[in-house]
Amino acid sequence: MINLFDTAISRTAPIGQSQEQTIGIYVCGSTVYGPPHIGHGRFALVYDILWRYLEYLGYQVSFVSNVTDLDDKIIDRAKSEGRSWKSVALQYEEQWWHDMELLNVRRPHHTPHATDYIDQMIELISKLEEAGYAYRLDDGVYMQVDKVPSYGLLAHQDLATLRSGARIAVDAAKNSPLDFALWKAAKPGEPSWDSPFGKGRPGWHTECVVMANSLLGKDFLLHGGGLDLCFPHHENERAQAAALGMDFAEHWMHNGLVEVGGQKMSKSLGNYTTLEDICQRHDPSAYRLLVLQSSYRSPLEVTPELMEDGEKALARIYSLDRRLSDIATSVDSVDSDLSLDRANIEEVKNDFQKYMNDDLNTPSAMALLFVSLRQANNLLDANNLAEGYNLGKFVIDMFYMLGIKSYVAEVEISDELQILLRERNEARDNRDFVKADVLREKIKSLGYSIEDSASGAKLRAL
Ligand SMILES: [Zn+2]
Repeated sequence: MINLFDTAISRTAPIGQSQEQTIGIYVCGSTVYGPPHIGHGRFALVYDILWRYLEYLGYQVSFVSNVTDLDDKIIDRAKSEGRSWKSVALQYEEQWWHDMELLNVRRPHHTPHATDYIDQMIELISKLEEAGYAYRLDDGVYMQVDKVPSYGLLAHQDLATLRSGARIAVDAAKNSPLDFALWKAAKPGEPSWDSPFGKGRPGWHTECVVMANSLLGKDFLLHGGGLDLCFPHHENERAQAAALGMDFAEHWMHNGLVEVGGQKMSKSLGNYTTLEDICQRHDPSAYRLLVLQSSYRSPLEVTPELMEDGEKALARIYSLDRRLSDIATSVDSVDSDLSLDRANIEEVKNDFQKYMNDDLNTPSAMALLFVSLRQANNLLDANNLAEGYNLGKFVIDMFYMLGIKSYVAEVEISDELQILLRERNEARDNRDFVKADVLREKIKSLGYSIEDSASGAKLRAL
């Protein structure tokens, strides 16, 4: 069971008490109006790592992350470039998935687009209006936040404090500067849809409520996003659900931001590095490693020096992987008592999980893996092949399980080879090394050497 810091209660709390339960995760995704920067890459990596680790623990995960394809910034860019808002959204969504692939971030099970959920958003806003939580002004429909008793739960501030800190309302007609637009009345030249509130488009905070509930149910387990989304975006999402008596997310998770000289990295501040840029200059896995070596809740500075350190650390991983591949064929035959070896690996494995389960303490987990990597090399140096191989394999498997990309191209193996591999592994587990060797030879005769990893069996063409 894993404990994660829950922003709503300001302490860690267990998630996934039952393995039977599918863990529904909703992460606020990208607004596709420009090239993604490394701050976006961080949130994508943090939740990708969480998802991979939950699967490693044996959980079923249903992962949803939306694409905001309708937004002021998209419309502004389209206007300034003299093209349609759709072409802007399509271009940068394509770039988003391209960059995610570079980072080895897996595509969520569902990637709902805001514009596909306009009808459901209109329905939700109508319900809020009927229940007395929304009011109309000339320029749209607004949510009256002081009617929601728990408003401020995520910000950990009461209404009066939040109100005093809010910017002066642009629209003086609003009841409170905290009230937010559920529906924006159509403006000339902007996309709009028909609705009971007149032509217009939904405000940003409604889409995630509708999409999360449509795809994950009303009480999904975890809602995540960058710390900058905690207030007001998540607070406002939650307010709409709470107003209608919906449970919404059980757990709120927020990752720290990427900073430049102590300042948030953002497109609006112009102090950003694009993902494409960093992936061209460095091995993209070095960025993942940097994220893994930092506490997910802390701010992260990304410098060329740190990326180079990351690449040096990756080189150690790849070099051990190559070393293990080179001796893999001889290890099955090694006649050594593996019981001590197994106990040692069990201990490393337990410590690894202990760190990961403690609010995803990846910095300690990484430190442990690198210490174990050195031990594995030392064992191999001392010609203690079986122990070195097994410890090293565990270390490599964990790095790859967390999404560090292997330096070799991997190929899914056929059913026939899969069966042979399973039999070989069983034989090896039963210490029937003669049979294991025979099976390995058979696999070899089919043109492949076999490598096991946490994410599944893989082969390498000989
Ligand atoms: Zn959202």
